[in-house]
Amino acid sequence: MSLLLDGKQCALNIEAQLKVKIDALRDKGERLPKLVVILVGTNPASVSYVTNKAKACTRVGILSEIIQLPEISSEAAVIAEVQGLNADPSVDGILVQLPLPKHIKSKNVIETIDPDKDVDGLHSVNVTKLVMNERGFVPCTAKGVVTLLKAYNVPLEGADAVVLGRSQLVGRPLAQLLSNENATVTVCHSKTRDIPRHTSQADIVVAAIGRPKMITLDYLSPKAVVVDVGINKVDDKLVGDVDFEAAWNVVKAISPVPKGVGPMTIVTLLENTMDAYTWKKEHHG
Ligand code: NAP
Repeated sequence: MSLLLDGKQCALNIEAQLKVKIDALRDKGERLPKLVVILVGTNPASVSYVTNKAKACTRVGILSEIIQLPEISSEAAVIAEVQGLNADPSVDGILVQLPLPKHIKSKNVIETIDPDKDVDGLHSVNVTKLVMNERGFVPCTAKGVVTLLKAYNVPLEGADAVVLGRSQLVGRPLAQLLSNENATVTVCHSKTRDIPRHTSQADIVVAAIGRPKMITLDYLSPKAVVVDVGINKVDDKLVGDVDFEAAWNVVKAISPVPKGVGPMTIVTLLENTMDAYTWKKEHHG
């Protein structure tokens, strides 16, 4: 029988722990952590992601604000908004919802965020810290995957891990994190010649490619712990990158879609915001 890597339950457990911490702050009359999300335009998927993030903040007691800017906003206007939040001592975390409209260079906006408030972990300072294995912010989905594996006591040290996908947002930071955890990591991508040759030997397979149900049993062995990051809409249903039905009860463990990595991504944003708050208090009182 396969073990279900239940991201929903794992996220609820972490939320409960965060709520205890924040309730204690409130009881002591202390300032509460605050996340601000900047949303440019009205892309329905982005609106839904941002709303879910704000709801999650409310559940644990983190203050949140959504700054909604019109689609036609200039890059300078978005940057000015970020600069204002950098200077605002009541703001601990800043997240700019991606993708931004095409006329705005995401990199210019991300690089404006104070690295100590960069709870999405995309600023080059935080990317470097991850590579150097130093304390910093790690992109939420990548960190959430490792938190999920650890919650189920999946051994990472010495494990052979294959990460499918190498995006800045998921694959690359995840490969680095797993390497920092002393796993032996192989990264596969669209130009990899024979993906099953790698995945069929692996102890851990993480799929983050955005190809519905591409990872079939041909790719997996019974010893595999499989984490499915993919979110694909097929006939109005959400499916992952892994053929869950085929893999279930064959592989050692597998995360579902939905209720797998999705909730872990959101709860990691809450964790990162709490970390930003704690860091600020330790260093600036
Ligand atoms: P992305 O930026 O489009 O990157 C996809 C990666 O997959 C690229 O590295 C690409 O290779 C590789 N790839 C594409 N087709 C492939 C194939 N046939 N064989 C092997 N590799 C292939 O996507 P992303 O932002 O990383 O997201 C990946 C998936 O995760 C999407 O379904 C996305 O919706 C989902 N996602 C979920 C969460 C969550 O919270 N659960 C968060 C973020 C993303 P190249 O580099 O060679 O192009």
